Amino acid sequence: MSPSKKKKTVADAVDRQWTARVGPALLERLAEGAAVGSPREPLVVEVPFTGETLGSVPLGTPDDVVVAVGVARAAQKDWVAVPVNERAAILLRFHDLVIANAHEILDVIQLEGGKSRRNAFEEVLDAAITARYYAHVSASLLRPKLRQGALPLLTTTREYRRPKGVVAVISPWNYPFMLSIGDAIAALVAGNAVVIKPDSQTPFSVLWAAQVFAEAGLPKGVLQIVPGSGAVLGPALIDNADYLMFTGSTATGRLIAQQAAGRLIDYSMELGGKNPAIVLDDAPLGRRAAGTTLGISTVDGIAFSITSGSGQVCVSCERLYVQSGIYDTFVPALAEALKTLPIGPSLGWDVDVGSLSSTAQLEKVSAHVNDAVAKGAKVLAGGKPRPDLGPYFFEPTLLEGVTEEMDLCRAETFGPVCAVYRFDDVDEAIARVNDSEYGLNASVWSKDVGRAKQIAARIEAGTVGINDAYQATWASASPMGGFKQSGVGRRHGAPGLLRFTEAQTVAVERVVPISRLPFLDNERYAQVMSLAIKALRYIPGIK
Ligand code: NAD
Repeated sequence: MSPSKKKKTVADAVDRQWTARVGPALLERLAEGAAVGSPREPLVVEVPFTGETLGSVPLGTPDDVVVAVGVARAAQKDWVAVPVNERAAILLRFHDLVIANAHEILDVIQLEGGKSRRNAFEEVLDAAITARYYAHVSASLLRPKLRQGALPLLTTTREYRRPKGVVAVISPWNYPFMLSIGDAIAALVAGNAVVIKPDSQTPFSVLWAAQVFAEAGLPKGVLQIVPGSGAVLGPALIDNADYLMFTGSTATGRLIAQQAAGRLIDYSMELGGKNPAIVLDDAPLGRRAAGTTLGISTVDGIAFSITSGSGQVCVSCERLYVQSGIYDTFVPALAEALKTLPIGPSLGWDVDVGSLSSTAQLEKVSAHVNDAVAKGAKVLAGGKPRPDLGPYFFEPTLLEGVTEEMDLCRAETFGPVCAVYRFDDVDEAIARVNDSEYGLNASVWSKDVGRAKQIAARIEAGTVGINDAYQATWASASPMGGFKQSGVGRRHGAPGLLRFTEAQTVAVERVVPISRLPFLDNERYAQVMSLAIKALRYIPGIK
């Protein structure tokens, strides 16, 4: 079959599945939810599976951002007065609606992002888990806390958590649903209004989230979506919002940080990575290499971490360090696993690996692999685009013999491509793992969990999975973010909520002023206070 005929067949199949399930009417309804004026140019969204047009949303302008932030600011005044428990109840309704309508958002995520349904489902899980978690812990995290006063009995002091006001969220295309609404959930429950600028390739997933939040009872104006170019809308957001949450590349993060410095607004950023995995001699090989179907499989786990989201995940594994004793068994098994993973365009559950998202991604991934091969790297699996499957498909790829002069040695590829290195000594492996400007995610694979934990303590990365690529760390209630050039601040857990608040301390002076006790001149005051401070040092319970 000729490639063009094959492409047509694939396009037809995807289109038939899509129309039968939801239909283009959903897209039109979602597009109407964008917070932009009229008329506006259309922002055309593509189906990466086929290269064809999915639909369009109105392209926002800087003026739209100014209006959206103004509306959000007005709505926030009422929203902050809503008791936290009521805000949390909206989160739980959002949770239920996302699970109940998962089929719809899975289709939207896949059609505008090109990933497999299995990987799209990660986004559904993350949004639901995040909503449930913050629904349950926000009241306690945001409750005023009694703090130790300056002098016992004479003062009472409380710490309050006030919302920042309007939080701007700038999100990427790779996990467009969870990397936008996940942060918005925490900001909203903390009493903020939120304006999201989704990536131009993937506005529909975010618009779907806003529609579901409206159904869940979120008041109008509190959450707004302005689709459009980052370079055009970014400055308007930074000039008007009170806090910025950015997920994207380190290069853009740096630019945004410089602009935010002009207004001294605070931000958190989740940026790029070049994530390593260490496979020790005693790693559990699992079913593919050892013929069993139970237990942890390092082969399957690493294959997943290379190919999830077609490698376009900030926490994907791109560097693999395998100890000599297991190398000759493990690496061929991994190469075989990568070669046999189901890959292709499908809205069903039958496929593990989807498409890259765009021409730019295909060109970058191909350039990295071609450069490495031209300079002597050996291809153990994959290595080529797959135009027979769709315009941007690229095979899961494992390379050996990668050296410093190759572009993919240190730079983030953001595709299903991993370089494998042999090591003997664990200290040497840890040094190589840490020899990177990035520090986002890492994993260690060993049957000896205690030893793996000791290694984790020496790895410079914000999350380290033991016998897990990234799901156990990511989906936990513990903070997630990057060391070094991989980010600033943390999402998830308590810090993921508290970053969207200002701490405000309110202290009440009682009985006498502590700055000048009555009937004491300055010298006597200093003597009395010195005695008091000395005594407090020994009173149990005083910190
Ligand atoms: P990108 O930085 O090009 O774009 C991300 C977002 O920023 C988009 O919405 C884009 O429109 C916007 N943007 C672009 N230029 C801007 C500007 N000048 N001002 C304001 N906004 C601007 O990144 P990308 O290529 O879309 O995403 C891939 C990168 O994101 C990778 O490096 C990846 O590692 C990183 N990422 C990190 C995480 C994480 O949690 N650490 C998650 C996903 C992606």
